[in-house]
Amino acid sequence: MSQSAWSPSSWREKPIAQDVVYEDKDELNRVLGRLRKLPPLVSAKEIDALKEQLADVATGKAFLLQGGDCAELFDDCSTQPIEHKLSLVLLMSLIILHGSRLPVVRIMRIAGQYAKPRSKPTEIVDVEETEVVDGEALTRVVKKEVLSFRGDNVNGYEVADRRPDPERLLGAYFHSTATLNYIRTLLASGFANLHKPLDWSFSHVRSPELQAAFSAVIESLQDSLDFMKVSTGGDGGRERGGTETVNIFTSHEALLLEYEEAFTRASTAHATFSAPSTRPGTPSQSRSASRTRAGVESQAQAPAQPNQSQVLAAPKYYNLSSHFIWIGDRTRQIDGAHIEYFRGIANPIGIKVGPTMAPEELVRVLDIINPDRVAGKVTVIGRYGADKVDQYLPAHIDAVKQTDHVVVWQCDAMHGNTKTSQNDPTLKTRHFSDVIHEISRSLEIHRTKGTILGGVHLELTGEVNDEGYSVTECIGGSMELEDKDLSLNYRTHCDPRLNYEQSLVGLYADSKPLSPDVAFLIADNLKA
Ligand code: PEP
Ligand code: MN
Repeated sequence: MSQSAWSPSSWREKPIAQDVVYEDKDELNRVLGRLRKLPPLVSAKEIDALKEQLADVATGKAFLLQGGDCAELFDDCSTQPIEHKLSLVLLMSLIILHGSRLPVVRIMRIAGQYAKPRSKPTEIVDVEETEVVDGEALTRVVKKEVLSFRGDNVNGYEVADRRPDPERLLGAYFHSTATLNYIRTLLASGFANLHKPLDWSFSHVRSPELQAAFSAVIESLQDSLDFMKVSTGGDGGRERGGTETVNIFTSHEALLLEYEEAFTRASTAHATFSAPSTRPGTPSQSRSASRTRAGVESQAQAPAQPNQSQVLAAPKYYNLSSHFIWIGDRTRQIDGAHIEYFRGIANPIGIKVGPTMAPEELVRVLDIINPDRVAGKVTVIGRYGADKVDQYLPAHIDAVKQTDHVVVWQCDAMHGNTKTSQNDPTLKTRHFSDVIHEISRSLEIHRTKGTILGGVHLELTGEVNDEGYSVTECIGGSMELEDKDLSLNYRTHCDPRLNYEQSLVGLYADSKPLSPDVAFLIADNLKA
């Protein structure tokens, strides 16, 4: 199928799902003009490095851990929440690394994960109305239909604040920048030094038993880490998720294409994506550096000297707002605006795939968004649900196996498992056992098919409230949270997240010393 010419704005010619309608177009254009001038958050070089690491994930040489909030909030751009989220992902990755002996590629849903697709554009909410009757103020609760909350970069959660406001796009940029700046600061200052995991703020874990259990696990991990060297291609673990220090990559759902377009910048500095194709089985491109006329380090093919004018003549477009972006389950229409946008950018990208995706449609999408068959370029993020994964994943695997696409298979064990709380129908929840089931079944299905489950995609948070309690949004896990406990510390404005203990490890009430929570389950399975 021949494609028409791509440009960062060619998506505007296509039908768009989940569009945000702004009343004040002039204001929107003013904001977009400003965004186009602001400096990027990440570099093409970092993006290329991630893409190389994902090629290793695709072939089973590394494991991908992707996690974070369903939706970040501007208010959570603050010291402690960022530290807690980062420390949780670091510790999970350490457990996986220790158990599996595989380097772990860490991508967080952070520094830009603001926009949310919604199943309905409006919702009915309870609003208090006050009326003065005979000099007396009477307050009553009335039902009102309002626009749905679409994420902090679109509108506010407060009912009075639901009108989409372009200024929030600038807010998203500056909050993303502050968040990423703090992550980079922490990493540069040794926060992620994997030989000191006890420094990663466990103080908020309240139960003394749990504290003791964490310490025991960490001490044993440290002992082994002292002896362990993960093979990292001679860079001492710096770049490959080893034990010296780590890389954290950022990601978000690229939903608001106006915003994404503003950060889509041409780069002639990196020739990696200029090559016509990197088919599976062909030697990977040389990593030797050369210089373009601009004097910027580039990655070019060797031994043939790159023709500089060719490199410069064919710039690649990178989305420099994030290292990795994905297409949501609601916006992946073959002829739609999002697929059109994604087919032109050089970043590694994800595509959410659920029960409504026909196997042949998945192959068509892959053909469109990765015509050059670059290994690791596309991560297929399965989100079927614990009760559907057996029915749908095998056919998707079979369809892709019949092609020459080399994808990263990832299990999002959250989005097919969302339920309504029995005690409070206004709360969404997820059962920890469903999450575990979907991951275990995905691992097993890939094993039988001879393919590799390369990673997991989770909604999780290490955040705690002022009293130090973890969030209570998902049911079950080693804390044995029940439906009636959900309201104790339910904080998300969007989907329910695994808390610290559910993501890591905890104690069984029946005093078995340790029960496997997510990170341990993955480590054990990869070892098997
Ligand atoms: C999400 O990742 O928060 C999300 C909305 O997922 P999906 O597109 O798979 O429903
Ligand atoms: Mn979500």
